[in-house]
Amino acid sequence: MSTGEEKLKHARERMVKTQLRGRDIIDSRVLTAMGSVPRHRFVPDDLRRQAYADGPVRLEKGQTISQPYIVALMAQLLELEGEETVLEIGTGSGYQAAVLSMLVAKVYSLERIPELARLAAEKLRVLGYENVEVLERDGSSGLPEHAPYPAIVVTAAAPKPPEPLKEQLAPEGRLVVPVGSQEGQMLERWRKGKGGALSQERIAPVAFVPLMGEHGWKTDHRPFWAR
Ligand code: SAH
Repeated sequence: MSTGEEKLKHARERMVKTQLRGRDIIDSRVLTAMGSVPRHRFVPDDLRRQAYADGPVRLEKGQTISQPYIVALMAQLLELEGEETVLEIGTGSGYQAAVLSMLVAKVYSLERIPELARLAAEKLRVLGYENVEVLERDGSSGLPEHAPYPAIVVTAAAPKPPEPLKEQLAPEGRLVVPVGSQEGQMLERWRKGKGGALSQERIAPVAFVPLMGEHGWKTDHRPFWAR
């Protein structure tokens, strides 16, 4: 390993210790996945030095890769055991999809911006995350072809939990989604009971880029400099 790679590995170990274990991430499989996925390979080249910092990192096209803690928290909230198929809405860099791919059998990840979908799919392939399929489409309508899913995660801010995603959740399934305005949201977990009834938990305040689309926002209200 080159010294540069060593340093990045140490930075990643430190991230797991202080930002994740030091908070409330206790799922050992999530901690292992976060300690293994090379986050620096998913951030733009000129921002590599920020890859393991305790915050989000800007991506191309006005999108962001979430703070490591939020990625870990969302994964933990999904309560994954290993055999599941997970649906992710908002591929972005592909980082969160890579983390999820280590926790389940199969990940379908949906991205509406063609260039991001293409870049992420390429990166995941090169790094060997073979159980992730990236599809370019409006993920606010979900992916009915492979439904129902025991776990669905939305990594963009929704005005309300999209109805198709609630429908595509399997009995006892979990849907993790940031819900609120375009300025700030509450991270919510929706759980479907055996009989199909949904219950909701409010977890933590968060700030995601908007979920655009048929069951999301129709216009991006963010100021031009934030896009
Ligand atoms: N999970 C990503 C970060 C997501 S940023 C990562 O680990 O890097 C949010 C992403 O959601 C952006 O890439 C944005 O283009 C995408 N997005 C927004 N609305 C969408 C929609 N309706 N369907 C699919 N992707 C969407």
